[in-house]
Amino acid sequence: MLIKNVRILGGEPVDILVENGLIAEITPASDAGAPTPGGPLSGAAGPGSSGASSRESRTGAGVPEVVDGRGAIALPGLVDLHTHLREPGREDAETVQTGTQSAARGGYTAVHAMANTMPVADTAGVVEQVWRLGQEFGHCDVQPVGAVTVGLEGRQLAELGAMADSAARVRVFSDDGKCVDDAVLMRRALEYVKAFDGVVAQHAQEPKLTKDAQMNEGVISGRLGLAGWPAVAEEAIIARDCLLAAHVGSRLHVCHVSTAGSVEIIRWAKTKGWNVTAEVTPHHLLLTDDLVEESPNGSYNPIYKVNPPLRTRADVEALRSALADGTIDVVATDHAPHPVEDKETEWAAAAMGMVGLETALSVVQEAMVDTGLLDWAGVAERMSAAPARIGRLPGHGQPLEVGAPANIVLYDPSVRTEVDPSAFASKSRNTPYEGMTLPGRVVATFLRGTPTVLEGKLA
Ligand SMILES: [Zn+2]
Repeated sequence: MLIKNVRILGGEPVDILVENGLIAEITPASDAGAPTPGGPLSGAAGPGSSGASSRESRTGAGVPEVVDGRGAIALPGLVDLHTHLREPGREDAETVQTGTQSAARGGYTAVHAMANTMPVADTAGVVEQVWRLGQEFGHCDVQPVGAVTVGLEGRQLAELGAMADSAARVRVFSDDGKCVDDAVLMRRALEYVKAFDGVVAQHAQEPKLTKDAQMNEGVISGRLGLAGWPAVAEEAIIARDCLLAAHVGSRLHVCHVSTAGSVEIIRWAKTKGWNVTAEVTPHHLLLTDDLVEESPNGSYNPIYKVNPPLRTRADVEALRSALADGTIDVVATDHAPHPVEDKETEWAAAAMGMVGLETALSVVQEAMVDTGLLDWAGVAERMSAAPARIGRLPGHGQPLEVGAPANIVLYDPSVRTEVDPSAFASKSRNTPYEGMTLPGRVVATFLRGTPTVLEGKLA
């Protein structure tokens, strides 16, 4: 297969030859000159027709021999460190199949599936089940995350070693959704995972400081009469865990950092040379807590209810700077699908979380690229290379070079589109961006050379 006229990380147009799932050759584009009417991937038939050029010559396997990516930039397939696929147990919200379809449409070629399923992924048996579902139904690679404690209950360590030795080869452990708040257990988990180069990914939330918390603690929570979620509840755990990780010489990853204070602590830990990495979600890079009070969707709209909560403009600015300067290593979606009945209810009763896989790259373009804070090489580092490195995921996150696996996303940053949740591949629709116009569009995704998305649609 030949992917023509794409600009790797926004560079000069090239043709990428893919053979046996690998990038076999990269050459200057052979016919970069004449623009095709209708824009990228639209083919010679002109506007309104979708992609005659990439359809005209399919092989027997349904794979096109030539894909014209004119106008698109090529990035390494994105890797999510933090996805909730909900299977097993909540297949009404998402399944491995629909979640990975959603991922593919967002440009992802691998996702880490969080452990808070039912049953919890706290044994070799459950992580292998998720891993096999990924092999069978996945539109991207599925790497299970193992729970740190049995049942996410924070009382006793799960069988970390057995999960690491299983077919799923688990390297990331997290009780995400809950904090490992017991310092002794956290220390033991950090010690344990050293044996197989694992990492503990902490959901930093001191539970006593956030009892009944509903939104960011501040002026707006006061005005709305909603119980506040103080920044210190996150920052106190991050500070403690950085110290614990340093003490035992282990790897710590901080999930979904949301406050300016957290950024300062992580920056401090990194200057000490400690092995601490961190992620930020797209929504924490764009949205603020005043949306809970006033938004195009009205006030008290639970679409904005998320854990950790949306914070202030000053926090957003600090998170953007930290992602730009590398203090925060990774953008991770925290894709959290919920069925309508769990979300469209009164604020206090609504589930926390947002879907995010299909809008992540556009939100990052809006918040980071179009603001001049990050170039496409920076995006590739933070949305592909760094998450693959932290997750110890071989075969992903590599630069688009000859010999590398053909995990590629073609993305057209020049268009703006209105977010339409009814078009999502995810089973769930709980997006805060409904009706918003965001930049960019994923036009194609390739997993080891096989298209999972073509012309913006599932292949
Ligand atoms: Zn979490």
